[in-house]
Amino acid sequence: MNNSKIIEKIKRLKTKKEAIFLVHNYQVGEVQDIADYLGDSLGLSRIASRTDAEVIVFCGVRFMAETASILCPDKKVLMPDLDAGCPMADMITASQLRALKKKHPRARVLSYVNTSAEVKAESDICCTSANAVQIVEALKDVEEIIFIPDKYLAHYVSDRTKRKFIAWSGYCPSHVAVLPEDIRKQKKAHPRALVLVHPECTPPAIQLADEALSTEGMCKYAKTSPASEMIIGTESGLLYRLRKENPGKTFYPASEKAVCPNMKLTTLERILWCLEDMAPEVTVSTETAEKARAPITRMLEVVGELGHNG
Ligand code: SF4
Repeated sequence: MNNSKIIEKIKRLKTKKEAIFLVHNYQVGEVQDIADYLGDSLGLSRIASRTDAEVIVFCGVRFMAETASILCPDKKVLMPDLDAGCPMADMITASQLRALKKKHPRARVLSYVNTSAEVKAESDICCTSANAVQIVEALKDVEEIIFIPDKYLAHYVSDRTKRKFIAWSGYCPSHVAVLPEDIRKQKKAHPRALVLVHPECTPPAIQLADEALSTEGMCKYAKTSPASEMIIGTESGLLYRLRKENPGKTFYPASEKAVCPNMKLTTLERILWCLEDMAPEVTVSTETAEKARAPITRMLEVVGELGHNG
């Protein structure tokens, strides 16, 4: 079956099942093209909690679909390929976090949203790459902070807030692949281009950048900046969205190696099968979901977005 036939079938089934498609910025272009909403993990989860649709097809990785399920437990959250995990989220387990908390009983746990539901359930507050600095500033009276799981995001936030963390040593393999020498090469080839990198990149890569921004931050920046050329240091899927939204501007990948294989597991075929079978479904136990909702809610309170999330 060719793509247009698959898309036709998907659209028909989607209407019949009254589903919506939430698609992460790192998905392949043809999946981005059928999105009802395209965005970052938390933005998509917030949309999930506001939608009237009973069925959500989450095209991203598992922790994102779990977060959607935590925020809207009454909805059916489907994920086209359950094997799409996040290597960084898998770098810390709930039992490892419990052991760390035991070692630092006075510390509060700040967990990046890129964590499993079980790990969130053991955390005090969450953050995203866009609001991590703001969340840490709000924790000014907290003496010790355990920051999990991304050591590079922790370093970036520490640098900006001058706070020291007990940081876990996780990292994102796709963002670590953005090497400083690749950025230097691209800067040399495109001397007029601005360099935007994600805070999950390593400190030497961030040092070479004009801006360190979340994916949504990059999308906003690309639209409003007078610059017509940009070198993008994040997962390759974002380039598709940037080029589509800014046809007059040119975007270069900082590195060809910044590809997350898990994000590429979702295909049009898998979306079609998922709608046909109404499976696989992502579920989080009621007990874990209740505990995991608390640190997400605290984060939303700090950034003043709770009203949008119900
Ligand atoms: S890009 Fe990195 S953080 Fe995002 S899902 Fe892939 S491994 Fe996880």
